[in-house]
Amino acid sequence: MKEFLELNEKTWLLYEEANDELQSIFQDIDDICEYNSAKVMNAFFINHINESHFHSTTGYGYGDLGREAIENVYATIFKAESALVRNQFISGSHALCKTLFGLLRPHDLMLSITGLPYDTLHEVIGIVDNESSLKSFGISYDQIDLINDDFDYDQIEKYLKTHSVKLIEIQRSRGYATRKSLDIEKCEKVISLIKKVSPKTIVMIDNCYCEFVSKVEPIQIGADIVVGSLIKNLGGGFAQNGGYVVGKKELVQLVAEALTLPGEGSEVGPSLGANRQFLQGLFFAPSVVASALKTSVIASYMLKSLDFDVDPDPFESRSDIVETIRFGNEEDLIRYCEGIQAGSPIDSYVTPVPVDMPGYKDQVIMAAGAFVQGSSIELSCDGPIREPYIAYQQGGLTFDTAKIGVLKAVDKIIKEREGK
Ligand SMILES: *Cc1c(COP(=O)(O)O)cnc(C)c1O
Repeated sequence: MKEFLELNEKTWLLYEEANDELQSIFQDIDDICEYNSAKVMNAFFINHINESHFHSTTGYGYGDLGREAIENVYATIFKAESALVRNQFISGSHALCKTLFGLLRPHDLMLSITGLPYDTLHEVIGIVDNESSLKSFGISYDQIDLINDDFDYDQIEKYLKTHSVKLIEIQRSRGYATRKSLDIEKCEKVISLIKKVSPKTIVMIDNCYCEFVSKVEPIQIGADIVVGSLIKNLGGGFAQNGGYVVGKKELVQLVAEALTLPGEGSEVGPSLGANRQFLQGLFFAPSVVASALKTSVIASYMLKSLDFDVDPDPFESRSDIVETIRFGNEEDLIRYCEGIQAGSPIDSYVTPVPVDMPGYKDQVIMAAGAFVQGSSIELSCDGPIREPYIAYQQGGLTFDTAKIGVLKAVDKIIKEREGK
């Protein structure tokens, strides 16, 4: 790499040390990748994926064989009754929005048990006023915060005994919060509690960033419906947009009718050339997720060595692909993002600056030079410009390319410290 990258000698030494120290972590990631790759291949075999599934429809999109096959593959992978995998979902946020609008009715109560939901859902729910929010349709919202990065089991039990809750949202990944992501074991424990106390309550999981990070997905532990983004893990970098919803048949059908129209539901929706990308992306997804994880792990190791607070710790087990780095000052946050940008395949020569973003309260700096706009399964790093100046780094289509971004970003900080 030295032939192509001009880095400070300290950066190289730190990189070599990180590589040596992290071998067993990389091995664990490879083991999970092997398992999930077999899971995907098995779903391709069972559903007889063939070349005709690459063809796609236009117009109404009736009888789209590829689209139907893809949805069967997703259902097989998630062990779900049904799946909706569509490019008509703009992204994960839209899939979450349609799921909530599809499942909730006026006078219903929605409860988040992972504290404040992801930023883009605030106006959807009505936490921030919007004339088109769930709240404007008379749907109420309440939340129970996490305690010590775990569910508040007692409070949840009490709440369910005294309220009629239609839907519970569990967001596994941290979003723009400073908390740990929720592993499958904790989710399983809380879902069995919910099912015991209030069996009719729908358990919905925001699974963004968590797919294929471990061997088990949330339907297997009792979730009713699971939602995610195709410009994250499962798109594998190939999907140009989209979202997925998997779960109980009647629930997925309600979401389909909210996405398209009552009476047509999942029967319509032209795939417009997306079928091959969805299949190829899914095929690559386990190894892309593994690359993203290794990229996060090496960033975690190197930044921790430079005395920044990182989460997760390099040696900690992970349930999503996100790494948070607490820079504590705006300059290092911006410097790091500039380095990530400089190490991106696309737009490497541009300088990212903090800007206002739709759906986000604070200004955000986003470093991403991606093949797909906003794709965060590709190496990307962003952070709201607010105390304590935390960067959220995720993605990396291949470890060998993504680590270049990390090396350039770390190098910027090391060079600044060295005064050159
Ligand atoms: C990214 C993310 C979303 C939104 O997905 P997009 O595809 O970016 O719209 C929702 N929830 C969580 C936890 C996320 O990380």
